[in-house]
Amino acid sequence: MIRQEVLALIARAEAGADLSRDELTCLLSLGGEEQKALFAAADRVRARVMGDGVHLRGLIEFSNICRMDCCYCGIRRSNRHVRRYRMTPEEIVAAAQGAWRLGYGSVVLQSGEGDALDPEELAGVVRQIKATTPLAVTLSVGERTREEYARWREAGADRFLLRHETADPELFARLRPGRRLEQRIQCLLWLRELGYQVGSGFMVGLPGQTVGTLADDILLLKRLNVEMAGIGPFIPAPHTPLADAAPGTVEQTLNAVACVRLTIQDAHVPATTALGSIHPRGRQLALACGANVIMPNVTPGKYREHYQLYPNKICLREEPEQCAPCVAALIVGEGRFVATGPGHSPRWTA
Ligand code: SAH
Ligand code: SF4
Repeated sequence: MIRQEVLALIARAEAGADLSRDELTCLLSLGGEEQKALFAAADRVRARVMGDGVHLRGLIEFSNICRMDCCYCGIRRSNRHVRRYRMTPEEIVAAAQGAWRLGYGSVVLQSGEGDALDPEELAGVVRQIKATTPLAVTLSVGERTREEYARWREAGADRFLLRHETADPELFARLRPGRRLEQRIQCLLWLRELGYQVGSGFMVGLPGQTVGTLADDILLLKRLNVEMAGIGPFIPAPHTPLADAAPGTVEQTLNAVACVRLTIQDAHVPATTALGSIHPRGRQLALACGANVIMPNVTPGKYREHYQLYPNKICLREEPEQCAPCVAALIVGEGRFVATGPGHSPRWTA
């Protein structure tokens, strides 16, 4: 059964109305036929605003060295079961050039937080990728100083991914010892001032999170007016304080993806690897309810197994060349096509 007031709410969201916290909470809680109506609306908005192309961002996990001790993360500092590595600048540039040869339009350079690569070295890597390929370059290296962000932007970095993780300040402080949500938001504001295309996002199903928190997460993304919003389920990682916690669910994550698409209609929204790791068709399901980006792994095979933020991550045994045709087939199988070019935010190219 579909309630008339729910249909009316979905229609308002589809038309771009600003939703209240209560209204978002309602949409985030839908199941059955009502959930199907929510997904259909999100899919229509995705098709109308972003088109049928799915953008590929090659992910290079260049180091798992981290100074932070986030309770949810498998590579947190105090996990002694992790073999630490850092790719050399030459290896990172070569991985990016490989991504370009595979037809990807952009790369994401991701690592733990800290100086696995000295900031000037990282600037050099960005400069070299920009000089030798037409790739858009995204960084995802955590909370840093404004000066560091500025230096990398000057070197040519186009975008930055920094999920806010959770909009509940107390939960944030508990899960990221020594840090506050306010500081993370400050970083996001600096990135915006410096002219980056800004990506943020959150995990679904963190212990202590409620549906109301998820509504706050979406309202925060809306307030930050992000160009990209990454939403994935929390997956408990071994040897972390949350090892025995329950994971986020597929249903709740998909509801959040659909609500983000309705709320920030022109944002890039990835079908996350985490969702693909808890459900064999997780990424396909996300593509059908608002997502329009996939981030295939282009980290060299020998490093991949050491970058496990969470367990049972998909594609751990593959090399970049094996992921490319597999992801393309997945996209075509959903009636979509692989988008070419850097896939900038539509706000940038308009
Ligand atoms: N160190 C950087 C980038 C690497 S972590 C940073 O923290 O921003 C990238 C993302 O992985 C995080 O933002 C977090 O949302 C996600 N992540 C970490 N541990 C996870 C887990 N156990 N389950 C699901 N996602 C996780
Ligand atoms: Fe480090 Fe990022 Fe993991 Fe936190 S989530 S421990 S900052 S890699």
